[in-house]
Amino acid sequence: MVNLYSKTEEQVKDWLVQEGFKPFGAAQIFNWLYVHQVRDFSEMLNLSKDLRAKLAETFSLSLPGLGEVLRSEDGTTKFVCVLEDGKKIETVLLSHEDHNTLCVSTQVGCAMACKFCLTATLGLIRNLEPHEIVGQVLLAETLLPEGQSLRNLVFMGMGEPLHNYDNLILSLKILLNRRGLDFSWRRVTLSTSGLIEGIKRFWAETEVSAMLAISLNGVTQEARAQLMPVAKKHQLEELIGACRELPLETRQRITFEYVLLAGVTDDLVSAKRLVALLNGIKAKVNLIPFNEHPDLPYKAPAPEQVRAFQQYLLDRGLLCTVRKSRGRDVSAACGQLAAKASPTAC
Ligand code: SF4
Repeated sequence: MVNLYSKTEEQVKDWLVQEGFKPFGAAQIFNWLYVHQVRDFSEMLNLSKDLRAKLAETFSLSLPGLGEVLRSEDGTTKFVCVLEDGKKIETVLLSHEDHNTLCVSTQVGCAMACKFCLTATLGLIRNLEPHEIVGQVLLAETLLPEGQSLRNLVFMGMGEPLHNYDNLILSLKILLNRRGLDFSWRRVTLSTSGLIEGIKRFWAETEVSAMLAISLNGVTQEARAQLMPVAKKHQLEELIGACRELPLETRQRITFEYVLLAGVTDDLVSAKRLVALLNGIKAKVNLIPFNEHPDLPYKAPAPEQVRAFQQYLLDRGLLCTVRKSRGRDVSAACGQLAAKASPTAC
C-alpha cells in the first residue's frame, strides 16, 4: 500500500482526478493530515464517504514507531524512529526558550564515510522514503509540550540529504506546503557534505528552497579529503567556486560548518586559511567542537582553542558561532543512539 504521507498535494490532486473525484479534495486531505493531524480516514469528516473509502483502500497512514526516547537536562530530546522494516534512525529535538528545532535524518546510515562521524560507521543501509522524513517531524510534534510546535528544521541528522535527492525534494514540498505544516524555507537548513552537482540542482529548483549549510571541515584540498573521502571527487576549489556563484538573497548567507578536532583542524593556521578561502562569500561559520567517542579516533579541542579560533575569525569580520554541545548526558555524538540500536553496528 502506498503511504499517503509520501504524497505531495499535487500528487494527491492527480490521483483524485484519475479516480473521478474533485481535485480540491487534496487541500482538504492535507488539512486533515497536517493541521488536524488525524490518523484515520474515517475522521476526515468533510470528505464524502466514497472518497474516504477509496482513500482507505489505496493508502496507508502509517508513521515510524517511536523507539527509545532520551531526554537531556538541557532540553535536548533524542529519539529513535523505528521504520516499517525494523531499521532505526535517530532524530534530535532541540528545545530552546522560544522555539524548537528538529534535526532530521534522510538516510539509514550514510555513504559519505566522514572520518569524524559515527553514522559513517554504519555505511549506507538505505534511503528514507518521503513519509519517513515527514514522519520524523510528525512524531517530534507529539513529544512537545502542549501549545508548542516546531519552528526550525535542520537536515543534519543521519545521511547526506542530496544523496537522497528525489525523496528530499518530495518531503520538502510536503513540509513547506502552506496548507500543511507550513514551514518557512528560511527556517529549513539543508546541510551537505558538498555534493556540487546536487547543490546546483537544488538551487535551480523552483518549488522548494532552503538555507544551505556546507560541511567544510578542511581548509585545503588535502586536509579536507583526509577527513571527508567525498572531497576527492567534489574538490574544495570547485565547491567554493560553486558557492561563490549561487545567487543569494540580500540577507541570505551560506553556513560553513567546521568541526574542531584537537591537533587536526583547530590551529590558527587553519583559521587563517579559512578566512582566505571564504573571502568574498556571504558566509557564516559554525564551529563544531568535536564530541569524543570511543569508536572515533579524534579528541575534543580545548575550550581556549575554540575561543581563540572563533576570535580569529570574528576579528577578521567573519560571522562565526560555536555550536553548543547539547544532550551530552544522553548521547555524546550524532548517530550514537541509532548506531547503538542498529543491528549492523553491534
Ligand atoms: S557527517 Fe554527514 S555526510 Fe558525513 S558521514 Fe556523517 S552523516 Fe554522512
